[in-house]
Amino acid sequence: MIDYRSDTVTRPTPGMLAFMQSAPVGDDVFGEDPSINSLERITAAKFGMEAGLFCPSGTMTNQLAIKTHTQAGDEVICDELSHIYQYEGGGIAFNAGCSVKLLHGDRGRVTAQQILAGINPEDVHKPISRLVSLENTSNRGGGACYNFSDFEAIKKVANQHGLALHLDGARIFNAIVHKNEASIEYGNIFDSISICLSKGLGAPVGSVLVGSNSFIKKARRWRKVFGGGMRQAGYLAAAGIYALEHHVERLADDHKNAKLLSEALSKLEFVQSILPVETNIVIATIGGKYTATSFSAALKEKGILAIAMTPTQVRFVFHLDITESDLDRTIDIIKSL
Ligand SMILES: *Cc1c(COP(=O)(O)O)cnc(C)c1O
Repeated sequence: MIDYRSDTVTRPTPGMLAFMQSAPVGDDVFGEDPSINSLERITAAKFGMEAGLFCPSGTMTNQLAIKTHTQAGDEVICDELSHIYQYEGGGIAFNAGCSVKLLHGDRGRVTAQQILAGINPEDVHKPISRLVSLENTSNRGGGACYNFSDFEAIKKVANQHGLALHLDGARIFNAIVHKNEASIEYGNIFDSISICLSKGLGAPVGSVLVGSNSFIKKARRWRKVFGGGMRQAGYLAAAGIYALEHHVERLADDHKNAKLLSEALSKLEFVQSILPVETNIVIATIGGKYTATSFSAALKEKGILAIAMTPTQVRFVFHLDITESDLDRTIDIIKSL
């Protein structure tokens, strides 16, 4: 099977496994796991932040950030396609007791003007606008990236209105590689960033939340409350360290391959449109002889897995375990459908 369902499906490479096996470990709830401590330090430094917090999932890092930035009754402003709203089980309401102001952005990206218009006036009827959460790259937006100047404009609005600014950076390295950005600049814009190690970077598990010392201290307390305090998890953190060292630059190959697949798909009569491909995600709108579900079933019969994301859209995600020959085979197969 060639598995395009998600960039989470990768297996650790032999080099990663060897590095994991030799990791020094200790009890992280006591702050004594050297591998976790170094992963947190390395990741924070890369993003120009003071501190980091290793967690089992990106859902947990996002939810901890929302919980730490807000109080019950506050409102979170985000795009309607955001993972924090669509795919975290209603955690904004359940974990933080907050309501959400949804914005209708462009492929998951919102503008400073939209955010400004989404801020509630000082009025007892209204929830207090407290936090803006952005996603880069945007998953449901087909891997779309912000321009850094958009962040600067949004930061200005957030500052003027006393809003905290969080980034769901599940695939932030895809954006950084695509836009040729300096990761350290992100620390000047955001109050917190969630970074997934288990997506395109190819680690088996884990995300890191980065922010100021005082923010991470509070988030660390909530992590324990959420049940996310792990013990000798340095073996997992080591996979993240290895991924940050070895698997960032190669993301460019995934982006190139995603474009090639998109070109091949665009020639099929039942593919009505494809979201512009910027990074490692291809989202095609299916019509004519297939629905999204029947197209993904036809692919599966030929050994290709892709997700029917909505009734009309199929998603392909590129990652470390998809080779160029896998792509060639995929293109041959889709031409035959
Ligand atoms: C995958 C993902 C997450 C985190 O998901 P987990 O499966 O909880 O690690 C968060 N945001 C986006 C945009 C994602 O794609």
